Amino acid sequence: MTTPLLDLKEVRVNYGAIAAVKGIDLSLNTGELVCLIGANGAGKTTTLGAIAGTLPLAGGHIRYQGQAIDTLPAHQRVRAGIALVPEGRGIFTRLTVEENLRMGAYSRRDHAIASDLERMLTLFPRLRERHTQIAGTLSGGEQQMLAIARALLSRPKLLLLDEPSMGLAPLIVEKIFEVVQQVKTEGVTVLLVEQNANLALEFAQRGYVMESGRVTLAGRGDTLLADERVRAAYLGG
Ligand code: ATP
Repeated sequence: MTTPLLDLKEVRVNYGAIAAVKGIDLSLNTGELVCLIGANGAGKTTTLGAIAGTLPLAGGHIRYQGQAIDTLPAHQRVRAGIALVPEGRGIFTRLTVEENLRMGAYSRRDHAIASDLERMLTLFPRLRERHTQIAGTLSGGEQQMLAIARALLSRPKLLLLDEPSMGLAPLIVEKIFEVVQQVKTEGVTVLLVEQNANLALEFAQRGYVMESGRVTLAGRGDTLLADERVRAAYLGG
């Protein structure tokens, strides 16, 4: 059996006395696109924080490329290839598009940054048109594209996306999902958190369903899409 790229065992995360993630197992193989769905407050964002290292574990273990990363600081996880695109995107609103993109490469020490920047501007032509624009004045969809492009500039092996479709028009969502598919084709492993369960399950190979801090179902995207419990809870019956 091959070692998973990412492997969570019995992971728990608390906010003070509140248990937000209550012992979850989750794993991703290299090259997979996996989604994490569930209602508001189920613990999806918290799980991503535990993987990215922005939230400490209250219990359990996380292995990445076969190594324990439980106590590795967030910036070292970025260097190891884990990139998070947070909910709300987290772009630098007063910097230009290009300055934001350059920030994405801050942890790199190689000399291919200029060519990667060029690649991002080809992947997202809208960002090329607007590379001198102040990021805070971009549309929501453009800001989401910028956040993804910036994360890709860290040359991740694992891309964590938190609700990329949030608040965006269907056409823009389609464009963003096309890019995510392209990124996956290039060998990046993707963990996608989505409120839009239908879209996520159609798009991902496998999915996990979270409820109140626990994984309650897991399986192939098409199997989960057909599952009565998933349909009743997340797909309007
Ligand atoms: P959403 O889709 O609404 O973001 P989610 O599944 O991502 O939901 P989380 O944001 O991970 O859920 O939240 C899980 C639980 O932890 C919720 O009950 C939430 O209220 C709680 N929580 C999240 N952040 C904090 C915080 N900073 N302090 C205290 N409780 C928190």
